[in-house]
Amino acid sequence: MDAAIGGTVIDGGNSVLKNLTASRNGYIPAFHRDECVDCALCDLVCPDFCFVWDLEEKEDGTQATRLRGIDYKFCKGCMKCIDACPTEALSWDREIEGYADAHRVPLFPKLEDRSSSTPSSTG
Ligand code: SF4
Ligand code: SF4
Repeated sequence: MDAAIGGTVIDGGNSVLKNLTASRNGYIPAFHRDECVDCALCDLVCPDFCFVWDLEEKEDGTQATRLRGIDYKFCKGCMKCIDACPTEALSWDREIEGYADAHRVPLFPKLEDRSSSTPSSTG
């Protein structure tokens, strides 16, 4: 243990930020929009509510719920969603560095905007 006394874990494992990245063991569910039929079975089984949805206007003027992606910040890598998916829209991929950050769809974008614009108290 070489962490300074009084130091904070600022990201992975932090119980305030709820970042579950550190729980994954090398694998990640990759989302393939072209294969998705928006059935929401993945969302039903996900224990951490990682799936991000949007309302999309259809040609007839009605609205449809559409899966935008996964917020990997909350994904613990249990892979239950892959078993539930009836299509090839989710695949069991080895996680490479930077993939989650590059492909995550933020679940609470307004909260993230607010926290990034908060002035630092450490000066
Ligand atoms: S791997 Fe588990 S935690 Fe991650 S999105 Fe799928 S069901 Fe949710
Ligand atoms: S279970 Fe598969 S097809 Fe259904 S919404 Fe989720 S990713 Fe899309």
